[in-house]
Amino acid sequence: MKQPHSVCVYCGAREGRLAGAVEAATSLGAAIANRGWQLVYGGGRSGLMGAVADGALASGGRVIGYIPQALMELERGHTGLAELHVVNTMHERKMAMAQRSDAFIALPGGIGTFEELFETWTWHQLGYHTKPMGLLNVGGYYDGLLQFTAQAARLGYMTKEQLEILQVHNGIDQLLDGLGPIANTANTHGTDYRSL
Ligand code: AMP
Repeated sequence: MKQPHSVCVYCGAREGRLAGAVEAATSLGAAIANRGWQLVYGGGRSGLMGAVADGALASGGRVIGYIPQALMELERGHTGLAELHVVNTMHERKMAMAQRSDAFIALPGGIGTFEELFETWTWHQLGYHTKPMGLLNVGGYYDGLLQFTAQAARLGYMTKEQLEILQVHNGIDQLLDGLGPIANTANTHGTDYRSL
């Protein structure tokens, strides 16, 4: 049987104070579920992570979480998921999430979210994968970061193509339309991503 399209969402373990962030996370989870797609995320119940998972679950979606044992308490491992994988290390978590997913989205968050987004973006730049990547720029939260990366491209530290890997949108449907199932996800360097 064909596996459903799986979308990995990186986002804050805190709710933060950005207006509309919790609603956006909940709506994103619901929209993923409503497309019949599967949500892959960090497995916690806290902050925006909990909101995206609960949004998907409330819409009947299938949710898969990967959480390190050491964070089970801090991020409150979500027990209502189809699959909750308790792993040993953060590296294991990130690798498993990446392998399990067909596309990646970042929502507002803190340094954990930034790190996950940038690592996945660098893997794309290196040709380790060609899975689509999106940024939901809720309330212009990432405007400063986007200005900075545009400057990096302008000054020759990254190419325009690398910059454009990240699809930036304010609207959820628009974002998901760009990250939908694509025919060929083989990477350009012939690297077997699953073995990374
Ligand atoms: P934050 O955006 O800082 O709230 O973190 C969001 C998620 O990223 C949380 O589940 C963190 O556990 C996770 N995280 C924190 N540090 C890292 C890291 N170095 N690599 C990957 N994920 C991380």
